[in-house]
Amino acid sequence: MQVPFVDLKVQYHSLKNEMDAAVLSVLHNTKFIGGEPVTSFENNFASACGLKHCIGVGNGTDALYIILKSLGIGAGDEVITAANSWISTSETISQCGATPVFVDIDPNYYTIDVNKIEGKITAKTKAIIPVHLYGQMAEIDKISAICKKHNLFLIEDCAQAHLAEYKAVKAGTTGIASAFSFYPGKNLGAYGDGGAIITNDDSLASRMRMFANHGALIKHQHQIEGINSRLDTIQAAILNVKLPHLQMWNKQRLTNALLYNQLLADVPQIITPKFRPEATHIFHLYVIRAQKRNELIDYLAEKGIQTQIHYPTILPLLPAYKYLNHKPSDFPIAASYQDSILSLPMFPELKEEQIKFVAQSIKAFYK
Ligand SMILES: *Cc1c(COP(=O)(O)O)cnc(C)c1O
Repeated sequence: MQVPFVDLKVQYHSLKNEMDAAVLSVLHNTKFIGGEPVTSFENNFASACGLKHCIGVGNGTDALYIILKSLGIGAGDEVITAANSWISTSETISQCGATPVFVDIDPNYYTIDVNKIEGKITAKTKAIIPVHLYGQMAEIDKISAICKKHNLFLIEDCAQAHLAEYKAVKAGTTGIASAFSFYPGKNLGAYGDGGAIITNDDSLASRMRMFANHGALIKHQHQIEGINSRLDTIQAAILNVKLPHLQMWNKQRLTNALLYNQLLADVPQIITPKFRPEATHIFHLYVIRAQKRNELIDYLAEKGIQTQIHYPTILPLLPAYKYLNHKPSDFPIAASYQDSILSLPMFPELKEEQIKFVAQSIKAFYK
C-alpha cells in the first residue's frame, strides 16, 4: 500500500467543479492583481479568526517580515523565538537587521519553553515570536503576560495553526499581529504561495498594508519605501473555496491523529504526540519520537510509506547561524530531539486503512 506524506489531489477532486469555476472566473475577468477575490478572502479570513483586519500577502515569510518592519524592529534589536521552527521565523528577524535569540522547546509539546524565555530578555529585546508548531498552540496566555511585563511586542507565527485554539482562544488573536502561510501543504493551502497577516490594531494594519504595497495605500502616493508582497488573485479565489471546509479538515486531521495515537500506544520505542490540556490541536504535522529513527525511515520507505523530519537541524545549529556560536547544549531538549523526531503521513483525507498500515509497519519494524 502506498501512503504519501501529503496528497493534495484528493482534496482538489472533492472540490473540482467549484474550484475550476473560481479560477476560470478570475481568468475571464482578467483582473489579476487585487480585486474582489482578495478583498472577500481578507474579510472571510479575518472573521473566521475573529479579528478586524486581514492583509493578504505573498507568503507566510513576507507576513512575518512585514509585521516586524512595520513595528519598527531593526538594527540593534533582539527578537526571541523558538529553537525548533522553519527558518522563516528567524531569517525575517535578521532581514530586519535585528538578532534572533533562540529559546529551547517544551519537552512534551515542542513549542517554546515559557520557563526559559525571561532568562533571554535583555535591554535590547523588542519582541517575542512564539511558533504554534505542528498545529498546537504555545502557551500564549503566559507568553502574553511576559510580553506585557517587559513591554515587548507579541507576534504569533501561525503558519501551522489555522484556527487552532488554546483555552478557547484562537491562534493569532492574542498578539499585536500574526502571520499565516497558505503554502500548499498547510492546513489552509493555496495552489502556490500565499500568506496573510491578521491584527486588531487599525493604524498598524494600515502601515502593514502600505509597506506590503510599495509604501503606498493609494497608487503613486508612496509615503515610505516598501516591498511588493500581495496575495495573488487566483490564490485568493482558491482560498475562498477552501476556507468554509477548513474547520472540518482540521477535525479530520485530529481524528486521524487520535487513531494513530491509539494504534501506537503500546509501542515502547516511540512517543506519540501529547495534547496540552485545553488545546485544540489541528495536527498540521503528526510528529512522533522514535528509537532507531533513521532505520525506521528506510524501513517505512520500502513499504511505500513516506515520512519527513520537521526539522532535521534546529535553527541555531544551522550553518546560517554559525556566527551566533551556539552548541547543542544551549538547547538540550530541541537538540536531543532532532535525532528522534519523525513526521508520519498526515492530511485530512488519509484513510483508516492507511493509518493502520503505517502503525502495523512501525510495529513490525521494532519486532
Ligand atoms: C510555512 C511556514 C512559514 C512560512 O511560510 P511560507 O508561506 O512558506 O513563506 C513560516 N513559519 C512556519 C512555522 C512555517 O511552517
